[in-house]
Amino acid sequence: MLNTLKSYFGYNSFRPQQEEIISHLLNRKDALVLMPTGGGKSICYQIPALLMDGTAIVVSPLISLMKDQVESLKANGIAAEALNSNNSDSKNMSIRMDYRLGHIKLLYVSPERLVAEKDGLLKEIKISLIAIDEAHCISQWGHDFRPEYTQLGMLKASFPDVPIVALTATADKTTREDILTQLSLDNPKTFITSFDRPNLSLDVKRGFTEKEKIKAIIRFIDEHANDSGIIYCMTRKTTEKVAMKLRSEGIIAGVYHAGLTALERDKIQEDFINDRIQIICATIAFGMGIDKSNVRWVIHFNLPKSIESFYQEIGRAGRDGLPSDTLLFYSLQDIIMLTQFANESGQQSLNMDKLRLMQDYAESSVCRRRILLNYFGENSNCQCGNCDVCKNPPKQFDGTILVQKALSAIMRTNESIGVNTTIDILRGNFSPDVVQKEYDKLKTFGVGRDIPRKDWQNYILQMLQMGYYEIAYSEDRHLKITPLGKEVLFQKSQAKLAVIEEEEVTPRGRRKKKKEETPILQTITPIPMGIEDDFLFEKLRELRKKLAEEQGYPAYIVLSDKVLHSLATIKPQTVDAFGEISGIGEFKKEKYGATFVELIVNHLK
Ligand code: ADP
Ligand code: MG
Repeated sequence: MLNTLKSYFGYNSFRPQQEEIISHLLNRKDALVLMPTGGGKSICYQIPALLMDGTAIVVSPLISLMKDQVESLKANGIAAEALNSNNSDSKNMSIRMDYRLGHIKLLYVSPERLVAEKDGLLKEIKISLIAIDEAHCISQWGHDFRPEYTQLGMLKASFPDVPIVALTATADKTTREDILTQLSLDNPKTFITSFDRPNLSLDVKRGFTEKEKIKAIIRFIDEHANDSGIIYCMTRKTTEKVAMKLRSEGIIAGVYHAGLTALERDKIQEDFINDRIQIICATIAFGMGIDKSNVRWVIHFNLPKSIESFYQEIGRAGRDGLPSDTLLFYSLQDIIMLTQFANESGQQSLNMDKLRLMQDYAESSVCRRRILLNYFGENSNCQCGNCDVCKNPPKQFDGTILVQKALSAIMRTNESIGVNTTIDILRGNFSPDVVQKEYDKLKTFGVGRDIPRKDWQNYILQMLQMGYYEIAYSEDRHLKITPLGKEVLFQKSQAKLAVIEEEEVTPRGRRKKKKEETPILQTITPIPMGIEDDFLFEKLRELRKKLAEEQGYPAYIVLSDKVLHSLATIKPQTVDAFGEISGIGEFKKEKYGATFVELIVNHLK
């Protein structure tokens, strides 16, 4: 097993559970594998497929995912193909021929195709194992439900002697049980690894206005020059708007949402995968079909609707294990919108609970990773050192008077105002609503003039989170003071608020990443000792790009970012030394060794 890992994939050791899962499949037993995105699920069936007689059948929901997998297998010298409707007839015909001849080790198919071929093609030769990737698609409880997946229930009866493995990154219990029942696996063993993704940094910014968000994003992108990233937005309109603002700053960003034609979507996705576009502003429609391993950052322009969605979306960063950054913006406006969606959805209380937990994450004053891991059922009291709370613990102050001012303004209107009017009253603004209802006559009018509007917004959001008031969605979103709020208002208890951090303003044009980031790197992935040569890295990147274009592969399939960093650090000067780099197997060593070594040797001259 280890030899196969080394010679085909170029890795020196297995990740947790991979070895156990592979042995289990080699013993021809069924399994369910739960691992986070980027955890390394594919190798769990790819190595058994290489070691067993016959062909492994892999079910995958999307053509783009099949394509990515087949390309990376081929790039490692492994005989893999995908039968799908994107291929020409003659291409599919030749794949079928090769398959019959036993020349294919892994055959990727859609669920429909599998069902259609189960008594035909698939019965003609020996099948080593069946892998069902993205297995949560079978369950209506998860996200991404795909009706075609439910037909896979017949597999066990059709192929009683073939081991079946189902794999997913969705760990919740209902989905998990649903997968097992629907597939009627034979005494399956469930393997669960930690859902931690230590290489993802976690950062949350509360209460930014749209303009401030854009400014912060521009700064963020400056610090991540040349890196690929995704900006998730709640609506199509926002994706367009954000992309436009970025373009006006000279930053090229594509847009992806369900309003585009399939053709436009495919194009933008391809451009992103092939590094022709570095930044995509997208709705959640984007990502399912993306296995791009070198996405270096993910930003949420708006709060996601649940921790599952959030974790899945940030999970698209850093699949190669290298440090990657995530940033979440969180505003009162988002909560109002999302609450409305949840209330209008079929499963109101479930969706409200999910949203509440997402808010708790955003508002956390303990390590954010701890909240995520506890959410996924891993009892953790970690202090990860890689989230904003750990790096910069929130400071609090006695905010009783501020809270009282706000609550009193609400109280004096008989709880018949929303957030904006509350702030207008506090700041002493003669807005139309204030004038019309004569709120300028209230005792609280103008008592909060000394605090900027934006800070009030922030404090009022914190107050919602602390449970001092609720928003009456059925009453025009008026604010209603809760018993807890009344305690503060009537001086029975104190209120602590978080200090609002001022954003430091960095001038544009400082485009390089801070180098201090390297120490974290070492605790996460075994990165070789030595000093990385940035100039060499850029040259290697250029060469990789050229080779990728020649072959029509995405750059990360030729060599991963991690391999490039290792090359720029170790600087191997022989093909054998090149082959020792983690992530380079025999095939890539033979194919690329001489070319890359030549570049390195010339560079060092
Ligand atoms: P997922 O669980 O999301 O399907 P993948 O199978 O795509 O994850 O793997 C994510 C990345 O991790 C890939 O780049 C893969 O090559 C890498 N990987 C998997 N196993 C190992 C390992 N044992 N050592 C180093 N890298 C690994
Ligand atoms: Mg996968």
